[in-house]
Order: sequence, then structure tokens, then C-alpha cells
Amino acid sequence: MRYEGAVIRPPIEADSLILQVTYGCSNNTCDFCGTYLGKPFRVRPYAEVVEDIEGLPAWYKKECSRVFLADGDALVLPQRRLLELLSFLFAQLPSLERVTSYANAQNLLKKDVEQLRELREAGLTMVYLGLESGDEQTLAEMNKGVTVAQQIEACRKAKAAGIELSITCILGIAGVERSLIHGRATGEALSAIDPEYIGVLSLIIQEGTRIANRIRQGDLVLPDPLGMLRELREMIAAIDVTNGLFRSNHASNYLPIGGRLPQDKPRMLAALDAVLAHPEQARLRPEGWRAL
Ligand code: SF4
Repeated sequence: MRYEGAVIRPPIEADSLILQVTYGCSNNTCDFCGTYLGKPFRVRPYAEVVEDIEGLPAWYKKECSRVFLADGDALVLPQRRLLELLSFLFAQLPSLERVTSYANAQNLLKKDVEQLRELREAGLTMVYLGLESGDEQTLAEMNKGVTVAQQIEACRKAKAAGIELSITCILGIAGVERSLIHGRATGEALSAIDPEYIGVLSLIIQEGTRIANRIRQGDLVLPDPLGMLRELREMIAAIDVTNGLFRSNHASNYLPIGGRLPQDKPRMLAALDAVLAHPEQARLRPEGWRAL
């Protein structure tokens, strides 16, 4: 398997076969994102993808049960190509159970529900989408390139097609001033989407990103760790989903919190309230230990 540049994948895909079908991200506008800086978006030649799959060792082909399509948004590929790829993967990998990928709202919106259903039936079981914020002003200031309503519509289409959703949001990106507004609005947007999985990260500034410049110039002031936990509390309090696994235990977070919503909401809020009431007793992750 050949890879070009840094390849990222969700932590839960650690054991999946990571297959690059595109390079970079077709959007690549988000101020906080340094993932694909210096890696212009390109579609990987399909013949190369096929060669890599065919070249896998026979024992691995037999055992491989999960594939993650990289890089940033494999769903940008035309429908016909995606269906061809999924069909080829299932033909080559007899134990394959699920194929997942990142997606952005833009490329989900370009497909109709019927096309998304076709992809689900062909084996695309889940997509990971960065909502980042449910606050319109924050999304616009971060140059996400879509509105909150478009994010919600895109996610609802995927859900209607039977594709599971894992949605990521970021604490801190609204700055101190809109921190609680961002927390609440994000909880409300998540409620409107009703995803199966919710992952919350805490902003880590990457050099070379536009947000790093804004912070340096004093244009954006980030909440401190306790401020981020207040924001998280506001978010969780506003989430009303039918059955969602909530995790904010990523290495970027100051405090691991997780549970199943709605039933674990009181426990998670109580844990945050205890830390906010007695921060001196809390064991927050030291700044230097945080990572992406
Ligand atoms: S956050 Fe996602 S959509 Fe935005 S530039 Fe990064 S990979 Fe692309």
C-alpha cells in the first residue's frame, strides 16, 4: 500500500485498512485546519488504487474487515467511481464488513438521498463529518464554507439513506466572547442532526493556519481550560438526541468525558459541575500533553 504525505484517520479506524483514493481536501478553507496544508487536493488515479488493493498480501486480503477511504473527503468522487470502488473492495476482500470515510457537507449535498442509499447498499456504512460549530457566526468566521442549515441538511440526507454519522465539534474555536453561544448552538445543531456518534475535540493551534495568525494578532482570544469545560457543559446540556454515543476523550481534551445520550447526560453534567466547582482538585490534562 502506497501513501502520499501525512495520512490521518479517526482514532477508531486504527485497525482499518487505510486506502487513499484522494489526496488532501476539496474544501481546504477552514481557518483552524492544518491537516492538508501543502497538500493540494487531487483525485488519486483509480488504476493506482486498484493496483494497491490487488497487491495486498493474500492473508491480509482474507482477514481485512474494515476499510477507511482517505484523505479528507472521499465522497467527492463521482457516484459511478465510488460504486465501482466499493464493489471492487468487497470482491477482493471476502471478510470486508464496513467501509467508512470522512465527508464534508458540500459533497453530501451534491448527492441525492437515493445516491447515498446506493452507496450504503454498496457497503459505505458510516461517514465522519466535521460540524465544528452550530453557531452561524463561528462557522462563517472559520471559513467553513457552509452554513449551519446546510450542515444539518447534509447530515439528514446521509441519515435518511441509512449511513451512520460520526460528527465532530471543536471546543474553543469561537473564542472567549462567543464560547457559550457556540456551545449551546452546537448542542442544538447536534440535536437537529441526531447522529449515532458525537466526538468533541479541543482546539489545538497548528502553525501556518489562519487561526494561528488571528490569535497572534489578538483578533481571537481562546477560552482557558476551564472556559472550554464550561463550553462543553453548555453543549451537552443542549443536546437532545435519541441514542448517541458521546465522547470528548480525544487527546486534545483537558478532561475525558463520555457516555451514551440521553441517559448519561445527568452524570456527565454532574462530573463537569464538580470540576468547575473545585477546579483545584481536578486532574486536567497538562497543556504539553495535549495532541491531535
Ligand atoms: S476541517 Fe475538514 S473540510 Fe475543513 S479544511 Fe480541514 S479537512 Fe477540509
